[in-house]
Amino acid sequence: MIILDGKVASNAVKEDLKQQVQSILSEGKRAPHLAAILVGNNGASETYVASKVKNCAEIGFQSTLIRLEESVSEDILLNKIDALNNNDAIDGILVQLPLPKHISEEKVIEAISPAKDVDGFHPISIGKLVQGLPTFVPATPYGIMLMLEYYNINTKGKHAVIIGRSNIVGRPMSILLSSNTPYGNCTVTVCHSHTHNLEEICLQGDIIVAALGRPEFVKANMVKDGAIVIDVGITRMEDSTAKKGYRIKGDVAFDEVAPKTFAITPVPGGVGLMTIAGLMKNTLQAYLAGA
Ligand code: NAP
Repeated sequence: MIILDGKVASNAVKEDLKQQVQSILSEGKRAPHLAAILVGNNGASETYVASKVKNCAEIGFQSTLIRLEESVSEDILLNKIDALNNNDAIDGILVQLPLPKHISEEKVIEAISPAKDVDGFHPISIGKLVQGLPTFVPATPYGIMLMLEYYNINTKGKHAVIIGRSNIVGRPMSILLSSNTPYGNCTVTVCHSHTHNLEEICLQGDIIVAALGRPEFVKANMVKDGAIVIDVGITRMEDSTAKKGYRIKGDVAFDEVAPKTFAITPVPGGVGLMTIAGLMKNTLQAYLAGA
């Protein structure tokens, strides 16, 4: 059984990006610049954004973090995005989700210039993805594809079962795995909360991508021998014995599932780290497109 190690694979991606930045800087050009907007004080969002800023620094990107109060109006947020869209020194813009209820995520996503949409959530980015055109691929599915590439996992002709159909994970993942590309060419089944016989369908999966947000949902009896299991889930579970007061759980019951698999991603230390790698690659891509 192979552990698909997000640390190893993301470090390889980041090392490559670092070298590209060094070469850009040696030509006397400015570094790629990512702007992140964080609204409110959601604990998980704080952690994600801090990690993105830290990764920018490690690679040699510039980053700007804009913090807005939980009570900020939608108009103020949209104006901030507009200013970043029109700032030539900014290559990529991300607005950390979720947003407070009084702000429309749809409006915010659509306000980001598609040329700077490094999260790949804009309808234009998704539309291009569906058509197989070059675009920004949403960071988590992109990170999973980078992981498959790093470990040279053969996906061709395999049946991939994806649990979850969100716009940011399950849906784009289904497009990528079914595309005619080196780590695609799967036959894809997308499952969701209305799927009947989920267990039976999962058992048919040569590849299972669990992205539903239900801790340890995928059990050993749902996974066939030799499957490749990608666990996207991240749920914080209270645990007073843990240093931070919580532990991160994935959507797969790792201990019982792992021994049956050909390859599996751990949580933490799997897809989460690859997501950042995907975002960083998108940021360089945005920079190079504008350079
Ligand atoms: P989401 O928007 O809540 O979508 C969850 C999807 O799972 C929905 O399509 C839902 O079906 C489906 N679902 C829920 N319960 C189900 C069940 N019992 N059986 C079958 N399908 C079920 O979640 P998301 O944003 O895609 O995130 C999913 C998980 O990935 C979360 O744990 C999240 O924290 C994690 N995540 C991790 C990363 C990372 O970097 N590792 C990035 C993003 C998200 P319906 O459509 O019918 O409601």
